[in-house]
Amino acid sequence: MISPIDEIKERLDITEVVSSYIKLQKAGINYRAVCPFHSEKKPSFFVSPNRQIWHCFGCGKGGDIFGFVKEIEGVEFGDALRILAQKAGVELKRQPPELITERQRLYEICELATRFFEKQLEESKSGKEAKQYLLERGIKGESLKKWRIGYAPDVWQGLSDFLNSQNYKKEEVEKAGLGLTSEKGSFYDRFRGRIIFPIFDLNSQIVGFGGRVFKEKDNKEIAKYVNTPQTILYDKSRILYGLDKAKVEIRRNNYCILVEGYTDLIMASQAGFENIVSTSGTALTPFQLKILKRYTENLITAFDMDIAGDTATKRGIDLAQLQGFNLKVAVLPEGLDPADLVLKDVKEWENRVKEAKSILEFYFESTFSKFDKETPEGKKEISKVLLPVIKRIPNRIEQGHWIGELSKRLNAKEENIEEELKKVKLDNDLSEVVGLEPEELKNLPSKTRKQLIEERLVILLLKAPSNLGMVKKEQITCFSSEIREILLNLKAYPNLEAKKLAPELTGLFNTLALQAEIEEGIEEKDITAETESCLSELNSLETKNKLDQISKDIKKAEGEKDSKKIEELTKEFNQLIKEKCQK
Ligand SMILES: [Zn+2]
Repeated sequence: MISPIDEIKERLDITEVVSSYIKLQKAGINYRAVCPFHSEKKPSFFVSPNRQIWHCFGCGKGGDIFGFVKEIEGVEFGDALRILAQKAGVELKRQPPELITERQRLYEICELATRFFEKQLEESKSGKEAKQYLLERGIKGESLKKWRIGYAPDVWQGLSDFLNSQNYKKEEVEKAGLGLTSEKGSFYDRFRGRIIFPIFDLNSQIVGFGGRVFKEKDNKEIAKYVNTPQTILYDKSRILYGLDKAKVEIRRNNYCILVEGYTDLIMASQAGFENIVSTSGTALTPFQLKILKRYTENLITAFDMDIAGDTATKRGIDLAQLQGFNLKVAVLPEGLDPADLVLKDVKEWENRVKEAKSILEFYFESTFSKFDKETPEGKKEISKVLLPVIKRIPNRIEQGHWIGELSKRLNAKEENIEEELKKVKLDNDLSEVVGLEPEELKNLPSKTRKQLIEERLVILLLKAPSNLGMVKKEQITCFSSEIREILLNLKAYPNLEAKKLAPELTGLFNTLALQAEIEEGIEEKDITAETESCLSELNSLETKNKLDQISKDIKKAEGEKDSKKIEELTKEFNQLIKEKCQK
C-alpha cells in the first residue's frame, strides 16, 4: 500500500507548493527566487520540478515539499504532513500517535470552537440577534460563511463544556487561549457574549479569535474587543488577518490594500477588493512585512493616519517605508472608515484606492495644510514631521527629489535641509530587520573541507561524465561512504537517475545534480582541470589524515613503551612523507 507521504508527493507539485508562498521565476528547467530563509538580494533559492526538490545555495537549506513547509511555517513534521495532506486531498487515516503533536490538538480545538461559535450564530437566540446586526451592517450571508463568523454565548462555561465533552482537557483549552482559570480556581470561557471572528494562518487553519461586543452593555467596564492571547499557534506579530484568502489576488494585482478592522476587510472583500489584509489595529511588524514582500512590494493603506502622532500604525508604516515598500495612502472622506465607505458608495471607495497618493505626497500635503509655512514656528513643525520621513527613503535619488521639494516649499536652502537631515535619528532602525535572521542560520554545522571538495568533485563529474575515468578505484575507498556510493553508482550507470540510489542518498545526490544543472558557463577543459585539482587535493588531505593518525598511534605506543610498534609506525610515517614529496 502506498504511504500517505508518497501519495502526497505524487499529487502535489513542488513548484505549486512553493509558489503558494513565494514568487518563483523560471530559470531554464528550474525555478529561482529570493530565499525566504535568509536575507539576500540575488536569488540563490532554486526549485527543481524534475527532482521535486528545493535548495538554497546561499544558506544551504533544502529538501522536499515537507521540508519546505516545515521551514516556512515553522512547524514540526506532523503538522507539515497535515497541511500538505489537506492541500493534496489525501486523508490521513489512523495517524501514528507520535505525529499527533500538541499543536495539532490545539488546531483541532480551534476548529471545533469555530464550529461551536458558527452554530451559536445560526441557532441560539442572542446568536440570531448578532447575525441580524451583522447583516444590517452590510455583511452578506455568504461572507459570514466565508469568514466563518460566529457567536460566543454569554455564559461562563459554554464552549469549555463543549470541548471537554469532546475529550479536550481544560489545560488544552487554556493553551488554545479559549479558557481561563480564575483566582478561586474555577474555569471559564474567555469569549462570552461576543461576535467571533476566527483568525486564520496562511493555510487557512484557525489559530486564534477576535471577539467584539455588538450591543451597548450596561457594564461599561467590558472591553469592546477581546483577542486570543499569545499561544503556541497564535502570535499576533506574525499574523495578518485575511492574507490566506488574499495572497493570490495580491500577487495578481501586485499590490495589497491594508485596513485596520475585520469588518473593513470583509466589506471591501465582498465588494470585489480581495487583495486586502487587516493589521487588526496593531503596528506592522518586520515579520509581517517580510511575509507581505513575498507577494508584493506595493502597499496601499486605507486607514486614518495621524501624521504627527507616534501611533502603532504609523510606526508600522515607517518600518515598511524603511524596508523599501512602495507605500501609498488612500485618503478617505472625513469620518468614514473603509467599511462605511464601501457600504455607502463603492464607486467612491474604488476611486479613493485608485487615486491613492504616494506616502511622501501624503505627508507633504497633510503637513503643509496643518502648519503655517510662513512662520518660523510653522517651518520648524513642518520639518519636524517631514525630515524623518525623508530620511527613511532608501533610494538616494528619490530622497534628493524630496529634499528639493521641501527646500522649495519652505523657501530654505537645500544644504541646510541636508544638514538638519543628518541630525535626525530614526528609532525604527534597520537592526530590527537584521534581527530577523533565523537563529539556526548562524550555527549551521559547517561542512569539513574534505566534504566540500568531494561534493564539488561529484558536481564536476555530473557536468562532464566523460571524466569519470579520472577517479581511480584505489582513491574511491578514501571517500566518505555517501560520496563513495554515489561515485560507484555513477561509474556503473553514467546516466544515473537518483532512483537507483539508496533512499538516504537521493537527497544529497539531487542537491548536487541541481547544482550541476544551474552552474553555467564553464568550459569542458576548465572542468577537467578543476576535477584534477579536486582529486589531488583529496589525495593530500588523505595523506595528511593518515600522518595525523600515525602520529597519534606513535604517541600511544610510546606511552605503552611498545618499542617494536614505535619502530613499525615510524617506518610507515617516513614512507608516507617520502611518497608525498614525490608527488
Ligand atoms: Zn537561503
